[in-house]
Amino acid sequence: MVMVERVEAIYQDVVKRNPGEVEFHQAVKEVLECLGPVLVKYPDFTEAKIIERICEPERQTIFRVPWQDDRGEVQINRGFRVQFNSALGPYKGGLRFHPSVYLGIIKFLGFEQIFKNSLTGLPIGGAKGGSDFDPKGKSDNEVMRFCQSFMTELWRIIGEHTDVPAGDIGVGGREIGYLFGQYKRLTNKFEAGVLTGKGLVYGGSQVRTEATGYGCTYFVEEMLKGKKNGLKGKKVVVSGSGNVAIYTLEKVHQLGGKVIAMSDSNGVIVDERGCNIETIQQLKEVERRRIKDYCDYHRHAKYIHGGNIWDVPCDVAMPSATQNEVTGKDAKKLVKNGCIAVGEGANMPTTPDGVQVFLSAGVLFGPGKAANAGGVATSALEMQQNAGREAWGFEETDAKLHQIMKNVYQLCSEAADEFGSPGNFVVGANIAGFIKVARAMSAHGLV
Ligand code: NDP
Repeated sequence: MVMVERVEAIYQDVVKRNPGEVEFHQAVKEVLECLGPVLVKYPDFTEAKIIERICEPERQTIFRVPWQDDRGEVQINRGFRVQFNSALGPYKGGLRFHPSVYLGIIKFLGFEQIFKNSLTGLPIGGAKGGSDFDPKGKSDNEVMRFCQSFMTELWRIIGEHTDVPAGDIGVGGREIGYLFGQYKRLTNKFEAGVLTGKGLVYGGSQVRTEATGYGCTYFVEEMLKGKKNGLKGKKVVVSGSGNVAIYTLEKVHQLGGKVIAMSDSNGVIVDERGCNIETIQQLKEVERRRIKDYCDYHRHAKYIHGGNIWDVPCDVAMPSATQNEVTGKDAKKLVKNGCIAVGEGANMPTTPDGVQVFLSAGVLFGPGKAANAGGVATSALEMQQNAGREAWGFEETDAKLHQIMKNVYQLCSEAADEFGSPGNFVVGANIAGFIKVARAMSAHGLV
């Protein structure tokens, strides 16, 4: 009890020291709420103030990103990189380009990344970065000029042994290519391991593009297997239609499930025959169009402008768009409609009251920091290949990803059992992720 009070005091201090950063507060609260029993078992963590230290980023950089649009007008955006924790390895975490980006979003993502990266079992620390730049509607040349300006600041603080960014919302293969090109030019070095998510022709890894969606689907399959069930024959709803959503769709279909609804920030498509991956890839990855155009190719499908995807009845929900997209009300609707499992492809897509609804109803719930860890895990495999100047095949890399996701599930499941919350993978992920980082921080002394 004393320990829980102590954790509450640490949380209040985080809120006071980081005013207005509500997403960061939310992410910290969720982790801290799980740590009471850990402090009882490991009193030395309290003495060394590990929790207080873990909540304070090691370094935060904010910078100006000036660039010129196609009309010749000057535009100014803000760039961020929060290097949160390097106890387990070089800082690692994606870059997000979206107009909603501010320090609180980057800090929540960086904080989550520490524990996620720990769960993968690979030697990577936690970081996140990005900008309030909106790539939507911009020409390739505008995106290139922005990326070049962004890297002209970022290059000073990254490096293959220091900090290795990757993609996230709004940052895909095109952006990583421009960022890498500028880094190479500025440093006069072909340092392949400085970024992940690279194209296959210049040091990228097989399966990195697919990894987050595939990995999340593997995690859901493991949760279902734990209940002697599986994705085969299940109706699945996947929010978003970006990188994570597309490869979730592909893997769910490969495992015998059927994705019947997807979305973007404008609306929802429902295709009871199963969403067609080729069409979505063509629309989103090649032509950069909106999800509503899916119905031009599949007349039987329905588009609901401004619709709520969680109103669509399903067996399995896989939120893969953005934070806080599944509210308590949505969760209740999903439970009422018979949903038995949730796999978070996105980071923190379910609000705290939504998580409570799922857990109380006995829905299998795979939290993002475990379920979507496949992306960063495969990024670490990309770093490994770059360091060894190797390029592994698709099947070999996918098999490694699959095994990593099984291990992540196992770690979460065992930690949940050990600390008295069997079947609660939120508790399991937070505790298992934390203990490893805390041990490394203890070993390093007061740094
Ligand atoms: P993309 O940019 O490829 O796709 C994002 C998708 O989510 C788009 O369909 C977009 O719709 C939708 N979306 C984004 N923001 C909002 C919003 N505010 N409201 C409604 N819809 C929104 O990003 P990713 O697929 O890479 O990332 C999706 C989620 O997965 C994020 O939470 C990210 O942090 C997480 N993640 C990604 C990893 C990766 O490897 N890429 C790894 C681990 C987690 P629209 O086009 O209309 O904006």
